[in-house]
Amino acid sequence: MTSPSPGPAARRGAAAADDPWALNADLHCHSAISDGTLSPEAVVARAHAQGVQMLSLTDHDELAGQAAALETARKLGIAYVPGIEISVTWAGETIHVLGLGIDPDDAALAAGVAGVRAGREARAREMAAQLEAAGIVAAWEGALRHVRNPQLISRTHFARFLVEAGHCADLGEVFLRYLTQGRPGYVPHRWARLSEAVGWILGAGGTAVLAHPGRYRLGDVGLWALLQEFREAGGSAIEVICGSHTRDQYARFARMAREFDFRASRGSDFHGPGESRVELGALPPLPDAVVPVWAGWAAAIDA
Ligand code: AMP
Ligand code: MN
Ligand code: MN
Ligand code: MN
Repeated sequence: MTSPSPGPAARRGAAAADDPWALNADLHCHSAISDGTLSPEAVVARAHAQGVQMLSLTDHDELAGQAAALETARKLGIAYVPGIEISVTWAGETIHVLGLGIDPDDAALAAGVAGVRAGREARAREMAAQLEAAGIVAAWEGALRHVRNPQLISRTHFARFLVEAGHCADLGEVFLRYLTQGRPGYVPHRWARLSEAVGWILGAGGTAVLAHPGRYRLGDVGLWALLQEFREAGGSAIEVICGSHTRDQYARFARMAREFDFRASRGSDFHGPGESRVELGALPPLPDAVVPVWAGWAAAIDA
């Protein structure tokens, strides 16, 4: 696939419709199929109402929302990119890899992420036991009340319970006081290997995108090593503009995308109204200096 050359010069004279930098693409968000609060249909409808022109629903380790999202997108006339966010363990850290443009019916991808989901229930029971030991009663039942997909119990569901039960003011406080390393309710877990997750995505015809690189506690050297290994495994893009990056990180990861010759992605990581910092489609556009991961996709999707 050839890349259009980046930069304002390449865009001059291009009609807005043919200008990938001007497209309101949101390629990272969640529904209640994982740890969001809205149904897949409601996420797509909300994205459409917010002016999103190209959407990917990227539930954690789950494909079950894809058919409903695609059908709703077709009805509303919004370009839809099938997606997923896969949990990976790399050098002891949890890393998230987005698979964009995957075939949601690919058997190997489905089997791979089913394996990743399989450990979640036992992990959640252990989280509940730890919280119980810390004096928080009925955390299991409390978290389950927020779960819509029994195969996908996440820390977010526990976090919602901890807020609802008055233990914390908001989700941000939860992740400072609980559920993270060294705090009650933290259960270390081994997710997929990086090469496995990227392999499933590529095998399903998708593009592997490293999610929110600014969030990993790896240091400069560790991050460099991660990006190298991600590229060697077949990863070809990173999130540059995303809900968990600061403005400084937009610039930093735009530079890194160029250094590594990665394409750049944009995604809110929206989990629900009143909960997420960033609304669907509400982020700044990608900088001119990087190539949007979706450049060249629109025609294929509309065809
Ligand atoms: P899990 O996959 O069960 O480890 O849960 C991870 C999820 O927790 C992420 O996808 C986020 O939705 C949520 N999360 C992690 N850290 C935070 C935070 N500081 N504030 C809000 N949500 C968070
Ligand atoms: Mn999440
Ligand atoms: Mn993530
Ligand atoms: Mn996410």
